[in-house]
Amino acid sequence: MTETKQKETYSFQTEVGRLLQIVTDSLYSNREVFLRELISNASDACDKLRHAALTTPALTDGDADFRITLSADNDAGTLSISDNGIGMSHDDLLSTLGTIAQSGVNAFLEKLGDEDKDNVKLIGQFGVGFYSAFMVANKVDVVTRKAGENQAWLWSSDGKGEFSIEPADRDQRGTTITLTLKDDAKEFSEDIRLKTVVKTYSDHISFPIKLGDETLNEASALWTRPARDITPEQYKEFYHHTAHAFDDPWLTIHNQVEGLISYTNLLFVPSTRPFDLFDPERKSHVKLYVNRVFITDDTQGLLPPYLRFLRGIVDSEDLSLNVSREMLQTDPKLAKIKSSLTKKVLGELKKKGEADAEAYVSFWRDFGAVLKEGLVDDFSMRDKLLELCRFKSTHGSELTSLAAYKERMKEGQDGLYYMAGTDAEKMAHSPQLEGFRAKGVEVLLFEDAVDEFWLRHINEFDGKPFKSVTQGDANLDDIKSEDADKEQKDESENEHITQLVASFKATLGDLVKDVRPSKRLTDSPVCLIADDSGMDVNLERLLKQTGQLQALSVRILEVNPDHTMIRKLADRASGDAASNDTLLTDAAHLLLDQARIADGEEPVDPVAFGRRLSSVMSEAL
Ligand code: ADP
Ligand code: MG
Repeated sequence: MTETKQKETYSFQTEVGRLLQIVTDSLYSNREVFLRELISNASDACDKLRHAALTTPALTDGDADFRITLSADNDAGTLSISDNGIGMSHDDLLSTLGTIAQSGVNAFLEKLGDEDKDNVKLIGQFGVGFYSAFMVANKVDVVTRKAGENQAWLWSSDGKGEFSIEPADRDQRGTTITLTLKDDAKEFSEDIRLKTVVKTYSDHISFPIKLGDETLNEASALWTRPARDITPEQYKEFYHHTAHAFDDPWLTIHNQVEGLISYTNLLFVPSTRPFDLFDPERKSHVKLYVNRVFITDDTQGLLPPYLRFLRGIVDSEDLSLNVSREMLQTDPKLAKIKSSLTKKVLGELKKKGEADAEAYVSFWRDFGAVLKEGLVDDFSMRDKLLELCRFKSTHGSELTSLAAYKERMKEGQDGLYYMAGTDAEKMAHSPQLEGFRAKGVEVLLFEDAVDEFWLRHINEFDGKPFKSVTQGDANLDDIKSEDADKEQKDESENEHITQLVASFKATLGDLVKDVRPSKRLTDSPVCLIADDSGMDVNLERLLKQTGQLQALSVRILEVNPDHTMIRKLADRASGDAASNDTLLTDAAHLLLDQARIADGEEPVDPVAFGRRLSSVMSEAL
């Protein structure tokens, strides 16, 4: 049917048109990368066919030697890149060479304003893939025949908005891309130039890249070579190719593991955060090879979800080549590789964190929230993961590790104090922290929602319990103060407010769980605290937001016995006229509302709050 089709002409998808315009118009400093892109695609095509031939061996009948062939005609000013990989059908051509598959590029183009000339340079950081051919060519012809099909096709375009597809002749499966080079790009039809470009960008490709009789690259899988023979540049180019990413790797983890199960991993932590990191549909980007044969890049079961930012490959001879992807997921050998890999990666991250704290912080900002998911999901790695965590704290503007916090703990301090909320800046000014600050006790400021969830499962770090400063008793008495004046204060010193506390309790009734003298306040008169037995305040807020909780629990109102206003109110509360003193009842309500406002909440009854405020102010005037 398709055999009889004549030449058809199509328009590029709008985004492609846009991309092509940028690619062709811009004075692209690094345009030699077009060759890297086309070779990368040719290599992918060989990988795909080799994988397909595992189940349908006939697909590679007659020619199982995968290779990529360059041929240049200096007189005609053409260059062609040929492969004997999987090839493309008519429909493949239509759906791939005319649209943009990588949504990252689309997102990038959207951000790129029309007149954004400077940003055009950024395009180099993205893979423009196949379309980069138009940086150097006026015309691109793709002749391709899919493995297992008889009909070949010619895709052709000058990169100006349209492309055509028509039937063509080709003896063998695979793809040949012929570029008619622009006048100022004729250098790419010179052998010497081609050799250097291939050596620079494509040496890691595992299939031979041929020019005439010569093989230009090493042609062995990069990961099988000893790490000492691989340059950082080669690692980087391999990362670009295999991850379809264009930033620099932040960390490269290359190991050849021999043991009960042998495998090789060459994994990368990107230096920029992938846009789809929190997309629930996001697949793993680590490719699985068995004995250097590509198997799948949908590798659930190879690495835990909280390491989904990793890119690269894992290759093992011990897995069976012929198992289906579904069976792979449940293969106990894969589970062993997973746990060994996970430990390895966490170990490397720890080393990097110790060696270069500053660089680690930038990693943490991009991927910390993802790693923290592991605290909830992966019990076996909890301790290792906790060591990798960094948090804000009242110690300074830098992020701290829990180990460093522990080093700074005060004599007599019985736990790691934290406050959880949504905004560390605001939390740092909370009344609940005053007493801790006065004693020089550092408080961790947890501002990620996920923190509340791991805190429900993890009670301690390295033998010390986590303690919320907004919940339960503040056990500050045992901690030596830096300031001797503030030292030791016993219960009897709070006797002067006993009456006031009783009066507040009577007035507020069910609005509070209790009223009690505070040890944690120094400057503010009051604050609210969660009961020891219940949930911490921030957790309740989160659960309420998500509808899992109807209302917040009633909290304890703590009163600062040393505050001048409280002292004066206490005098009135123990005086003769106390029983019908409206100021005392107004003050009880106003102080509760003040504490609520400090926690970012509304007064119990905003109208009553206004009325009481006016009445107290009028009296003072
Ligand atoms: P990417 O490689 O990131 O998918 P490209 O723009 O480089 O994006 O390529 C687009 C698609 O075109 C590829 O995913 C592949 O399906 C197809 N393609 C390109 N070159 C070849 C080739 N030599 N053989 C088979 N398919 C190819
Ligand atoms: Mg590509």
